[in-house]
Amino acid sequence: MRLALIVLATLCLSTSATAIEDSRVPGGIAIIPIEADARPTFNGKPVLTINHGEQHVAVVGLALSLEPGDYSLQNKGKQIPFQVKPKKYLEQRIYLENKRHVTPNTLDLDRIKSESQKQRGALDAFDGTLDSIRMILPVEGPISGPFGKRRFFNDQPRRPHSGTDIAAPTGTPIKAAAQGRISLIGDFFFNGRLVVIDHGEGLKTMYNHMDQIDVKEGQIVAQGEVIGTVGATGRVTGAHLHLGVILNGVSVDPALFVPEIRALPQ
Ligand SMILES: [Zn+2]
Repeated sequence: MRLALIVLATLCLSTSATAIEDSRVPGGIAIIPIEADARPTFNGKPVLTINHGEQHVAVVGLALSLEPGDYSLQNKGKQIPFQVKPKKYLEQRIYLENKRHVTPNTLDLDRIKSESQKQRGALDAFDGTLDSIRMILPVEGPISGPFGKRRFFNDQPRRPHSGTDIAAPTGTPIKAAAQGRISLIGDFFFNGRLVVIDHGEGLKTMYNHMDQIDVKEGQIVAQGEVIGTVGATGRVTGAHLHLGVILNGVSVDPALFVPEIRALPQ
């Protein structure tokens, strides 16, 4: 009996320690065992490392645009090979009233360019230490746009969906998914009012289409702290939160870090 209890306790511990799961597909993550003092890079970008159960591992973000095939993690001149398998994401057709959100004009294009540079800078940053890899659901609601869907706006193909859309009424409070530093706030053409939280070691969360922003750049927020409210700003068809999770500069499936997303109705 005592043995059974010990076994049960060990199982629970290992379950809570494995908050994230390996998923070697475009938009997924590769969890690769590595030495404790490793400084791995992937595609020239530094990669997050953590203690995962008994092991020290690298957690590599795999871009949605990555072609399935053979890749390798670089570490101190050595290569650690791994394979990325294909994944089929569904298609989504969206119809927008605002035609400029489908075909932006010249002025819009200038704005979009400068905003995407700002965003790139915030999403590529790699500094600070990671407090915890575990994240909580920032907003409750049905999923109105799953991660990775191949999108057509008014029948024109656009980039696949880089986050998870959770529908909620305007004004619903948004909680920080994890502790971190506010590294970017803005009011962008496509993403609307947005907040980026840098959790350290290249892991960030992004909150788009917000109504109200209640934080400032540089501010440290705790997990669960309210950063603002859900809105319908930017390229949207209704009020929702677009939650993005970014790792080594690429967007990965938020459900890998926020498992509660899998339980939300669609
Ligand atoms: Zn979205």
